[in-house]
Amino acid sequence: MSDNPPLPPYAEWPSFPFEGDLRLKSLDEPVEIEPSRHGENPADCLACTAPDENYIWVSERWRVRSLDHPTGLPVVLILEPRSHLDLGDLPNLLAAELGVMTVRVERAIRSLDGVARVHVSRWGDGAAHLHVWFLARPHGYLQLQGSFLSMWNDILPAVPEEPWRENLALAAAWLAEFGGTALAEPPRIHWTAPSRFETEQEAAAAAEGGAPAVMVKASTKDTARDTARAAGAGPSGPGEAIALPDPVAVLPPDAAAAPIAVRSAVPAPEPAADAPGAPADPGKALGTR
Ligand SMILES: [Zn+2]
Repeated sequence: MSDNPPLPPYAEWPSFPFEGDLRLKSLDEPVEIEPSRHGENPADCLACTAPDENYIWVSERWRVRSLDHPTGLPVVLILEPRSHLDLGDLPNLLAAELGVMTVRVERAIRSLDGVARVHVSRWGDGAAHLHVWFLARPHGYLQLQGSFLSMWNDILPAVPEEPWRENLALAAAWLAEFGGTALAEPPRIHWTAPSRFETEQEAAAAAEGGAPAVMVKASTKDTARDTARAAGAGPSGPGEAIALPDPVAVLPPDAAAAPIAVRSAVPAPEPAADAPGAPADPGKALGTR
């Protein structure tokens, strides 16, 4: 390998988070034996040993959790089977349910205000227990488009805790409409006048020495549970991120046409079936509601 190989074309993409004088790392020699992953043994597996309380939504065979603190994106969720299996180990039932659950979690996140896209990722090198990532890309921030979103999640200042918790509660309630149990609690009510609330938010951001976070807009869409929204409503304007231009004002066409953008105020009665992808709910799986 030469001392200074050329950078790949994506180093020039608007979504690439870095600029300046970059150099490629040299590639190490391959190892003979790879190290084991975290939790190869179920007894040591964090997913297997975590109680349901650590998750925002649970069902008979699946659980959804968030990270334990806000990060740079509005919401990051992780879908896991209860069984200690990796992707290629799933039996047909769980494999089929993974497809349905993937669509549901994507829609749950996309139902949140301010979310333009949801990127779904599965990497297999960290924990052995299957975990699928769902990364919410905030509306308007075109530099966050694409595969560098997971990097931006670590680069951008963390979103404020309150709207983050509200989004978790709303996503969990959305999932629970199809079965399972929502465990995420909406944030406690802050009885503060909106104008004063914004001032406090700005003061808090300034006190932390960072720029306001990318997406702090509380959800106002008609989502699953009135209680979740009523308890959270902290109006705060969309902020600006470090080194990012203002978001574009126009929704991309397919985001505007998202089937979940308009929902009935009265949820249709749900069968008791908790199983995602159960034969009884092909309509739901196809997004007819
Ligand atoms: Zn496990």
